[in-house]
Amino acid sequence: MKKNAAEIREDLKAHLDFLTEAGAGFVFRRPEDQARAGAGAPASRSLPPGLPILADRPPQTADEKKLLEEIDRRVLACALCDLHRFRTKAVPGEGDREAELMFIGEGPGRDEDLQGRPFVGRAGQLLRKIIAAMTYREDEVYITNMVKCRPPENRVPHHEEIETCSRYLIRQIELIRPKVIVTLGRTPTDYFVPGREGMTARRGHFGSYLGIPVMPTFHPSYLVRNEGNRELKRMVWEDMQKVMAFLGRK
Ligand code: URA
Repeated sequence: MKKNAAEIREDLKAHLDFLTEAGAGFVFRRPEDQARAGAGAPASRSLPPGLPILADRPPQTADEKKLLEEIDRRVLACALCDLHRFRTKAVPGEGDREAELMFIGEGPGRDEDLQGRPFVGRAGQLLRKIIAAMTYREDEVYITNMVKCRPPENRVPHHEEIETCSRYLIRQIELIRPKVIVTLGRTPTDYFVPGREGMTARRGHFGSYLGIPVMPTFHPSYLVRNEGNRELKRMVWEDMQKVMAFLGRK
């Protein structure tokens, strides 16, 4: 999908906006922000010692591509848990089905339920800015959720709903084989890199799932709810810089 000049300008602006707000790197910023951002400490390329990481990533086969399409079809028709009764559209996920980078959120909200696409509301716009700031196009990454149907009133999905729906997500991960997974907020973080501490302590530290490095960070809707909090943005950007460093993107 080729972009026109206006779209490229828009992407670039989103990129710079996010970098500026996050207090990142080379963009102009005030000295006090510079000090708070740790004067651009370089992100470590290395993962924690002993983390079980798969060495290679075999190319996807034609059968696997078909299976991924089949998963989407099954999700769209799924009635395995009660959430299907409340949905307008199920939301399987979108992006490159061979992406090296995968983002996993909690579950569709109102806008996502109406459109059948992940992260298209306010939090989604912020996530897409973050992706652009990471120098990825939206169609180069894969974006999905822990549960594929909107929980009523956007409540946190129940344990059984997560367990039931995880059969789709786990299969998507196995078939897409991303090099890195970013978990957005507590729900996917608890599933993929469980821990007792809160998100503030767990974010920014790589874990591993099926041999794939997993980077937990704050959910973009938390950033939207705390719009004036530059420190939160800075922390998310720091986490994303670790991902970029691991993927050789910076
Ligand atoms: N929040 C999520 O966790 N996922 C979405 O798709 C949108 C908002």
